Amino acid sequence: MTETEGAKKMIQLTTATKLEKQIAKARTVKPRVHVNCFGSYTVTNKQTGATYTVTCEKRDGKRFASCTCRAGELGRACYHLAAAVAAHLQLAAERQAAH
Ligand SMILES: [Zn+2]
Repeated sequence: MTETEGAKKMIQLTTATKLEKQIAKARTVKPRVHVNCFGSYTVTNKQTGATYTVTCEKRDGKRFASCTCRAGELGRACYHLAAAVAAHLQLAAERQAAH
């Protein structure tokens, strides 16, 4: 495991976040999302074998996410992030339902 260099750019997930396009891409590419722990996901592109780490966290009631790919480093939403966020939200809903 290597640490990402420099400060991590977190993308705030709001309704204004243009994730739809990335969600659509994730549906086409169908990356594998592995849950490391709640809030940390490893997304694998099955075609290229490239893996990226997506982190989701909540700060002051706002959701943030980041990805270790080039787009993520530039603070842009990517399909890895969209795929991981979808898994994260499902996990969060399941957690809530369990309590
Ligand atoms: Zn990414």
